Parts: sequence; structure tokens; C-alpha cells
Amino acid sequence: MIDDHDIQDSGRGGLRHPYRVRHGAHTVAKPLGDVPGRQWRPTARGFTAGRNQEIAMLPTESQLTTTQEAPDPTGVDWTRCGQCRTIVYGRRFARAANTCPDCGWHGPLTAAERLEWLLGRESARCVRPGRTTDDPLEFTDSKPYAQRLEQARETIGIPSAVLVGQGRIDGCPVVVAAMDFRFMGGSMGSAEGEAITTAAECALEHRIPLVLVTASGGARMQEGVYSLLQMAKTAQALAALDEAGILTISLITDPTYGGVAASFATLTDIVIAEPGARLGFAGPRVIEQTIRQKLPDGFQTAEFLLANGLVDAVVPRSRQREVLATLLRSYSGRFADAQTTAPAAEGEAPAADSRPPVLTDPGQLPRRAAWDVVQVARNINRPTTRDYLSHILDGDGFLELHGDRLSGECPAIVCGFGTLAGRPVALIGNQKGHTTRELADHSFGMATPDGYRKAARMMRLAAKLGLPVLALIDTPGAHPGIEAEEGGQAVAIAENLRLMASLPVPVVAVVTGEGGSGGALALSVADRVLICENALYSVISPEGCAAILWHDRGSAPAAAEALRLDSRSLMEHRLVDGVVPEPQEGAHTDHAQAADLLRRAVSHCLDELSGKDGEELIRDRRARFRGIGATAG
Ligand SMILES: [Zn+2]
Repeated sequence: MIDDHDIQDSGRGGLRHPYRVRHGAHTVAKPLGDVPGRQWRPTARGFTAGRNQEIAMLPTESQLTTTQEAPDPTGVDWTRCGQCRTIVYGRRFARAANTCPDCGWHGPLTAAERLEWLLGRESARCVRPGRTTDDPLEFTDSKPYAQRLEQARETIGIPSAVLVGQGRIDGCPVVVAAMDFRFMGGSMGSAEGEAITTAAECALEHRIPLVLVTASGGARMQEGVYSLLQMAKTAQALAALDEAGILTISLITDPTYGGVAASFATLTDIVIAEPGARLGFAGPRVIEQTIRQKLPDGFQTAEFLLANGLVDAVVPRSRQREVLATLLRSYSGRFADAQTTAPAAEGEAPAADSRPPVLTDPGQLPRRAAWDVVQVARNINRPTTRDYLSHILDGDGFLELHGDRLSGECPAIVCGFGTLAGRPVALIGNQKGHTTRELADHSFGMATPDGYRKAARMMRLAAKLGLPVLALIDTPGAHPGIEAEEGGQAVAIAENLRLMASLPVPVVAVVTGEGGSGGALALSVADRVLICENALYSVISPEGCAAILWHDRGSAPAAAEALRLDSRSLMEHRLVDGVVPEPQEGAHTDHAQAADLLRRAVSHCLDELSGKDGEELIRDRRARFRGIGATAG
């Protein structure tokens, strides 16, 4: 738990909110711009929130810039970037929602500015939080808390550090709660906890997504344990939204610390962060003093959090509405809703390939030497997961989400949302590459436990939101290494097998290249397990098998043949449900056509599965795997 002083004096040269002056034991905002003679004008002054009342007090453009106490002879507003110190034309800075056109610095926004930036002035309505006691402990330090609170309200012009609005982003209904760091460092008192909880309850009542914009130094010390318990209160409000299957998103802004970071800020389905925004439990100064070490550059920043698997994406302010709109559209068109208006594959342009979308008769496939199949499956020019996704998804494309929220971000597995033939889907896939560099960057498609846990997070999210899962598998196997073992590779794989056995949404898995061992199976416990015509699926690499059983890696071709790892053999043994046709010369020769064939096959399977409810899906999926290796009678 920290206070705003800690943030202010932190290692990276302070908060980079240069417009703040000490004001008693807490801080208040100074004008945007350090030109003498100007004063902060509260952007939402006189804010009188009432349920379903228009936000009439959102700032006008002139309010977003500084106001003039002394007349400026030039008649122009100027402001100074808090990072590069460049003097910027005030209106230009405000039009870009307080981002610097030179260095991209994201300056602070007030809660009212934030609501307007996300919701627009037209559609927003205020949501009034429940009532709370102002000063439950009758707390006094150098000044009575009641007096500080009154002063903050007067100076900032809002009743607490959280404003809640209900409106639309790109036509999609949403409730947004935004925090205002100027109000006692955005610290969480009863009123703030109540406002976040009210926002969650409003989202639950109307069954619409919740977006939380955070900015906080942590707990409000003057409210003691009342403040601490707001963490539990807000966390359980989010639990209720999880149970109701309602999408929750947080947008982390600088700074987000302590009790806010350790409750609602990081409990949402999707966590996006502004560039440079810092989030952590303990403040940097506390950590430095405790461990007596200098913290590395960029510690606790959005980019640090992304690399450590703790946030889904770092999104600049200019793209936030667009990204939120994509997420909200995915949610509003989700599978459960789409079932009644299932977008049929009919009406699509006839495919160049006259074969059925999924081949289920081994006789439709040529018999080929297994070793030849191995070479084609490993061809460096075969489409990767990202190649396929760039072709098969509708308009918005692939919205990639990162991290397992636990230990790291694995580059060998990509996850995200997209819409396939009108149907939003959760996407998971191994990522390889076409050059040595790309392959190395993605660990040759060999996932670490972080990767399997990221996939698991995506699957749980799909289950919560009612989205079907599409997994594209192309891996030689799970990553073999010291760190992978330390991270519990075996446990991560095992837990995915169990999780997939219980997903109440349709799951389609396609082995697009190499389906290697447990590392492949950890993404393939599906209702429909398909394999591309030239892909392979095997318990071990032919080289590995040859080394162990033949004591000679040179016997790999013989091992490949014996393992029956090609698509035709797998079909004959009914170990896969069908084969996705490839272009005549193989998928590597024509990515667009290969992707078109994949999209046809996946759409076909999702259509088949669309009539089944969760219980039926789980029962049939378990029966499918129950029968593997069992003999009838
Ligand atoms: Zn700048």
C-alpha cells in the first residue's frame, strides 16, 4: 500500500505529471502547462450526477486547455509536454486527448475528459453511485479528513475520485467508470469503492459490458479498514459479472497502484494499458528501500507488464476507442446470441476447390510416403497461424491478446479474438515463422508453460463469453528446457487437457503443420479434430522415435512410416475427424487458397456444432475421447 507521494518521487524521475503541487498532505493538480498566471479550471465543475441524467458538465474544448487569468498577448494557448518538454499548441494537445504530438507522451486526463473521450458527449448518461459515509473514522492528521475531502470536492469539482457514465462506443452499449487522479491521488475510499461497485451493478442489471479506467495511488489511509475492504467489495462485484457472462475490460492509466491494482484493475477479462502507464502493488520507492537496489528502467510500466504476461495489450489513446469497439462487437455478436441468427456459409463465393470442405473418406486422399509428408509439414513457407488469421477473419481482423496473467508472455502461442464468417471466435494457435529469425523469435512454435496458460486463459474467457474456440496447431512439441520445467510444463499441459474436456462452447482444432506430442494435444481436445492434408500428428518426432527404438536417427523415414502420422493414416484409424484439403502443390504454394480451404472447413464444423448446448458438447466430446483405443463390445 502506498500513497501518492511515493508515486510522485518514484525512481523514473517522478510521476511525469508535472502539473502537480503539494497541497497539505495530498496533492492537487496545477494547470496543464506551466505558464505563469494560469490556473486550473475544473473540467466538470458543478458536476451534479443523477441517475440517467445527461453528462451536461463534460468539458468543452476550451475547458480542456488552460484558461487565462492574465490575458495572453498572443491570444494562443500553449502547453508543455511532461516528457520531452516541447511547447505544444494547447488545442492540438487537447484534440489528441492530451498526448504529445512529438514524443507520444500520454498526459493525464480527468475522469470527465476520459468519459467524453470514450463515450462522446452525445451518448453518455451519468450513473449515480450509492451513498456512503464521508469520514467514518473522524480521522485527523495535520488537518481533519473531512476538511481535506471538502477541499478536494471544491477544487476538483467532482464528488469522489470516480465518475461513472453509461453510453455507447461505436454503437455498442457499455458502462464506463473513470478514476480521477487529481482527487486525493485517486485513492480508494468508500465513495470510490461504491462508485466502482455501482458501475458493475449497473452493467449487470442491463447486461452490458463494463469498462474501468484506473488511476490511483492506492488506499485512502484516512478511511482505514473501510478503505481496505473496498478491494473485497469491488472484487466480488466483478465476480458477479463473471458468473453472468458479462464482458469486463480495464484500461490502466498512469499510475495505478496498491489496492486498486490488487483488486478490480486486474480482475477484468481484458486488461489494456496506456503506453508508459505504471501498475504495481508496492510503489517503486518502497521496493527500492526494502531491497536496497536501484530498480531497472521501465520497471512496472505497461511495456514491462506486457513482457511479464500481466496485461493483454498496450494501446495508445488514439486507438483505444477502436480496440474497445472491436472487443465490444465480438461480445455483442457472440456465439450464444448468434445461434438464432446463425450466419450460414451459403451465399459465399464457391470455392475454387470442388472437394467437400472436410474430407472424411481416406479414399479421397492419395497414399503418400510418410517421410515426404514430414518434409511438407515442416516446409518453412507453410502458412503460419498469423498468415491464416490474416486471411480467414472478417473485417476487424485478429485482435491479439497477450499474457497468462501469471508469469509471462510466450511468443510461441498467439491468442485473441476475431470474426470468422460472421461469427466471433476465440483464437489460439502456435506461431512459427518463415525465416530463421522469425522462428527463433517464436521459439520454433514450441510453447512454454506461459503459453499453455495463456491459451487456458483464452479458453476460460471463451467459456465465460460463450465464444467458440478455434485452435490452430503447428508445433514440434512443447518447449524442452530448464525454465519450462521450472515453470511446470507437465502441469500446464495436463491442466489444459482437463480444461478442454469441460469447455461448454464448441471447440474446433486443426493441425495445420506439425502436431507434435503433448505440446500439440494441449490445444487439441476438441469437438472436431481436423488435420490439413499435408500435416502430421504424432506422439514423437520420427527422428526421436528412430533414435530410441532403432538406435539410429537415420531410420527416421522408417519411423515416420511406422508411426502412421500422415493425414490419410490418421483418418483410417479414426484418430482425426476429417482432413482439410490443401492446394494441389501444398499449402506453402498458395497461402490465400490454403486459408480459404481452412475457413470453409472451420465454418462447416462450427455450423454443425451450432445447434448443441454446452452440456451436449461436453458429453459428446468426452465420448469421442473415451472411445479412443477402446474396442467395441
Ligand atoms: Zn513530448
